[in-house]
Amino acid sequence: LILLGLESSCDDTAAAILRIPTTGAAEILSSVVFGQTALHSDFGGVVPEIAARAHTEKLDLCVRDALAQSGVALRDLDAVAVTAGPGLIGGVIAGVMCAKGIAAGANLPLIGVNHLAGHALTPRLTDQIAYPYLMLLVSGGHCQFLIVRGPDDFTRLGGTIDDAPGEAFDKTARLLGLPQPGGPAVEHEARKGDAKRFRFPRPLLDRPGCDLSFSGLKTALLRARDQVIAEKSGLTPQDRADLCAGFQAAVSDVLAQKTARALVAYLAENPATPVLAVAGGVAANASIRAGLERTAAEVSARFIAPPLALCTDNAAMIAYAGAELFMTGHHDDMTLAARPRWPLDRTSPAMLGSGK
Ligand code: ATP
Ligand code: FE
Repeated sequence: LILLGLESSCDDTAAAILRIPTTGAAEILSSVVFGQTALHSDFGGVVPEIAARAHTEKLDLCVRDALAQSGVALRDLDAVAVTAGPGLIGGVIAGVMCAKGIAAGANLPLIGVNHLAGHALTPRLTDQIAYPYLMLLVSGGHCQFLIVRGPDDFTRLGGTIDDAPGEAFDKTARLLGLPQPGGPAVEHEARKGDAKRFRFPRPLLDRPGCDLSFSGLKTALLRARDQVIAEKSGLTPQDRADLCAGFQAAVSDVLAQKTARALVAYLAENPATPVLAVAGGVAANASIRAGLERTAAEVSARFIAPPLALCTDNAAMIAYAGAELFMTGHHDDMTLAARPRWPLDRTSPAMLGSGK
């Protein structure tokens, strides 16, 4: 089975060719990602109109490159999978329209994929993990714990009630005059800092359950920054490093402790498959990753973190999720709609991706 995958739900335009052999592991024949960071850097965040226009301009180039790099011709494809939501609607529409054009032109089945399912199934693509497993999806737009039972079978155990951690890293970087994306910049500074100098709050740890909150942390950081500025009429590099270290320690601590709770809930029902997997750009953070790894080890669970290029937005994960759906007999037709919001867990109406 050979699939083309397309992704355009946020600020990366991506296309990939994936081969699923009859037995053995899926093979990524090509994975092309055109990032848009430079286009948005003057605006302090992703501008939906600019993103949609750039996706429209880049999608066919991405497809052309993905085909060329894989050595696969259009006529060799068995299906086209595309992110149909959730995400910035202009970009999602651009991807869905492109996929429909290719599917109609080459007479191929079309499969609409939930972007979050793409992230959530990545450990199966990279490590052939069996169902079920516990997934912590932690990115610029999302933060949630999911029990993954199948390509269309997810139970949400909890998640952020406000900001996503990646968003908090990005805002922290902005408040401290560091470049975007904020995550890597804050992590770099934090390495030089003293995490004990500023004690930031650990929100919601006093309450039961797996929900998280990150917006208060950002306010606390702003207050601490302004206090230092008021006392010394400016921030030294050491102040900045200490603020980053304190902030990162708080995020890492909260994620580890809530993950411990999610693991207890997950293992109570699924003792035979003790696996914690992570996905999303924030999983790139070494200190957060180490905290999660320790938490998994405490309950003898296996810890899976896909390589970074497959943790952040890419089309190989979309092709893979599409392949699993296709193999279970699912596909869409030309009525496939782009959806700005699309909860993975259909049993929980309260569940919404932050739908950036
Ligand atoms: P989504 O996938 O939810 O639609 P997104 O595309 O913004 O959102 P990703 O591409 O998965 O998310 O991740 C990007 C986010 O990860 C950014 O907010 C970035 O700051 C954060 N990030 C990247 N590297 C690190 C790091 N080393 N430490 C902390 N955060 C990081
Ligand atoms: Fe994503």
